[in-house]
Amino acid sequence: MIQKPKQRSFKYYVFLVVSLLLPLAGFFVYAVRYQTELFPLLMLALLVNIFPLIIFYRRLKQKRSEVKLQKEEFFEKSNLLESELDKENHLIGSFRRKIVMYAKLKSLVEKLSLCLSLEDSAHMLCGELCQLFEPGDATAILYLLQAQTAELRIVYAEHNRRPINIKSKRGDVFDQWIVKHLQALHLEDVKNDFRFDLNKMKDAEARPVRSLLSVPLIVQKKVIGVLRVDSARPSRFHKEDLRFLRVIGDVAAVALENAQMYDKVEDMAIRDSLTGLYLRRYMNERFQEELGRHLRKNSPMAFIMIDLDHFKHYNDTFGHSAGDLVLKHVAMLFKEHFAAPGNLLCRYGGEEFCALLPDCGKAAALALAEGFVRRVAEADIILRRTRTPVTVSVGLAVFPLDARTKDELIQKADELLYAAKRNGRNQVCAA
Ligand code: GH3
Ligand code: MG
Ligand code: MG
Repeated sequence: MIQKPKQRSFKYYVFLVVSLLLPLAGFFVYAVRYQTELFPLLMLALLVNIFPLIIFYRRLKQKRSEVKLQKEEFFEKSNLLESELDKENHLIGSFRRKIVMYAKLKSLVEKLSLCLSLEDSAHMLCGELCQLFEPGDATAILYLLQAQTAELRIVYAEHNRRPINIKSKRGDVFDQWIVKHLQALHLEDVKNDFRFDLNKMKDAEARPVRSLLSVPLIVQKKVIGVLRVDSARPSRFHKEDLRFLRVIGDVAAVALENAQMYDKVEDMAIRDSLTGLYLRRYMNERFQEELGRHLRKNSPMAFIMIDLDHFKHYNDTFGHSAGDLVLKHVAMLFKEHFAAPGNLLCRYGGEEFCALLPDCGKAAALALAEGFVRRVAEADIILRRTRTPVTVSVGLAVFPLDARTKDELIQKADELLYAAKRNGRNQVCAA
C-alpha cells in the first residue's frame, strides 16, 4: 500500500502567521494611539517575530519539497503498478486465448477422428483451421506429397468458409522450402525475407500473400505433405499460432495417412485389380441411382457392353499372362476413350467391359462406341515382339428409348453385343 504524503494545509500556516501578526498589529495600533514611546519595544517585537516567520517560511519550503518528492514517488509507484496490471491483464488475455484455442483444438481432434475419407478429413481440417484463425481473412491449404512423383499436390483449400481455387497446385516457393528443410515456417512479411524469390511467385499465384504459417506433415520421419495458413495482411500470425499449427500438423499427419489408407482400401473393394476399372457390383449400385436421376430429369443415358473378340485365342496361343496384357491394354484404351466426367467404366466379367454414359443420346453414344472399335483395331498391341491385332464387339442400348429398367437395359445391350458377334465382330450394334 502506498502511504499518502503528509501535507499540512495552507490554512494551518495562514493561522500560524495570523496568530503571530494579529497581536503585533493590535500592539501597533495601541502604540500609535496611546503610547508612541512603545515603538522601540514594537520594533523589538517585530524583530523577534521575523525569526519565527523565517523559520516557518523555511519549514514551509522544506515541507513543499518533501510533498513534491512524495508525490513523485507516489506517481512512480502508481505507474509501476499500472504497468504490472497491464502485464497481468495481457497474461490473463493470453491464457484466455490459449484456453479457447485448446478447446478448439480438442474439437478439431474429435472431428478429425470421425472423418474416414481423405476428402472429408481435408475439408474438415481446412474449415476448422479457418475458424481457428478468425477473423476470416486467413486461407488454409492442404498439400499432400504424391508417392509416384514425389511432388506436392493440393488436396483442398478454404478461405472465409468457402472452397478456394489455388493456382499453384504443386505448392509455391514456401511449400517447397518446407518439404526440403522439413521445418515449420512463420513469415511476418514475405516481402522482407531474403530466402525467397518472390518474382518466381508472381506468375504462379495471383492471390496476395503477405504473412504465413506453414508446417510439414510428418509420419514416421517421412514428410507426407504441408499444412499452411496464410493471409494478405502482414504480421497476421504470432509465434503462439505457429505452436498451435505444429500441434495440429502432428495430429493431422497421422489422421491424413489413415484417411489415405482408408480410401485405398475402399477403392480396392470397388475396383478390379488388373484393369483398374470398377467392379460389376459397384456399377450395379450406381446404375440404379443414375437411372433414377435420369428418370427425374427426363434425360437419355447410354449403356454400352464390350466384349473382346476371340479372346480365348490369345490365352491359348500366348499364355494366360499375355491374355492379361491384352486385357490391360484394351482397358487402358477404354478409360482414355470414355474419360468424360460422370462416365462409369467397369469390368463386367472376364473379357467384357461396360460403360454407363450419363446424359448421352443414341447418336453421340454410337459415334463414341464406333470410335472405340476403330481405336482398338488400330492399336499396336505387342505380344512376343509381334504386333497382334485385337478387335472388340459392342452392343449399345439407350434409356429410355430402348429400355426403361436396369435389367432390361443390360439385357438389351447384351443381345445387341451378340448380334454384333453374329454379324462378324469388330463392330457396334445398336437397336
Ligand atoms: P467371342 O469372340 O465369342 O467373345 O470369343 P471369346 O474367345 O472371346 O469368348 P469366350 O467366352 O469363349 O472366352 C473368353 C475367355 O476369356 C475365357 C477365359 O479363359 C478368358 N478370360 C476371362 N477372364 C480372363 C482374365 O482375367 N485373364 C485372362 N488371361 N483370360 C481371361
Ligand atoms: Mg465374353
Ligand atoms: Mg469374347
